[in-house]
Amino acid sequence: MKLGKRFMVKPHTRLRLGEFDPDDTAGFEKGGEAHARLEKNISRMEDLQYRLYAESRHALLIILQGMDASGKDGTVRHVMSGLNPQGCRVTSFKVPSAEEASHDFLWRIHQAVPAHGQIGIFNRSHYEDVLVVRVHQLVPKSVWSARYDQINAFEKLLDENGVTILKFFLHISKEEQKERLEERLQDSARNWKISPADLKEREHWDDYVKAYETVLSRCSTSAVPWYVIPSNKKWFRNLAVSQIIVETLEQMNPKIPKATFDISKLRVR
Ligand code: AMP
Ligand code: MG
Repeated sequence: MKLGKRFMVKPHTRLRLGEFDPDDTAGFEKGGEAHARLEKNISRMEDLQYRLYAESRHALLIILQGMDASGKDGTVRHVMSGLNPQGCRVTSFKVPSAEEASHDFLWRIHQAVPAHGQIGIFNRSHYEDVLVVRVHQLVPKSVWSARYDQINAFEKLLDENGVTILKFFLHISKEEQKERLEERLQDSARNWKISPADLKEREHWDDYVKAYETVLSRCSTSAVPWYVIPSNKKWFRNLAVSQIIVETLEQMNPKIPKATFDISKLRVR
């Protein structure tokens, strides 16, 4: 079975994260074959990106969400390493600036959507506006609860205008997060990645689970589904994400455009 099909969240179904095993590896084992397949996917992505760029009729937007230390940065580093920087852009969404906060929540997002021919990667996204914002009640419930429908409408608009969207939830266990945060505390080269706020956020783990369950239940649509990626094992996370990107680009099937003039009449002097 294709990994995309296996990990896709069925549209409009009530989802419980407890039913998804973050240690799942879909029968793969670490090393040999899994490693070779990741390498193959990365080189496939390179070829498909070239064709996407040449055709310039469609864009691919990859959205990465997950708890702290779930591997959003690592996924960008490992899976996107084969992409040509000329045709892709990573946008990391932080706490909104004063200017961003003075617009609607999708304003900064829309500006970062990739143009036709490009691949855009979002490290966090508009979903923060129904995650951190909901958990900390940064706006009233009446405001954030209206956003699920607004997000669905926005993504539908993009999808109907040539932007294929892939949404990955990197699913780790609370125990795995503990280990990863402890590594960040112990390894001086990785201290910069942790702040007291991250440890504070961990205390809200259950609230985030609830907020993610609503996102995955309400915003997985048939045109723009969510994927829950088992991410306790980094090697499998990389394999699954790269595989689903390749499956999607293959389905988009971008084609190198044919010359619009008679090539046989051209001479290089
Ligand atoms: P990091 O991804 O570790 O660089 O952290 C970025 C921080 O920005 C996280 O704590 C996010 O929760 C926060 N953030 C991103 N988008 C928003 C938003 N729309 N409202 C409030 N906080 C946000
Ligand atoms: Mg962080």
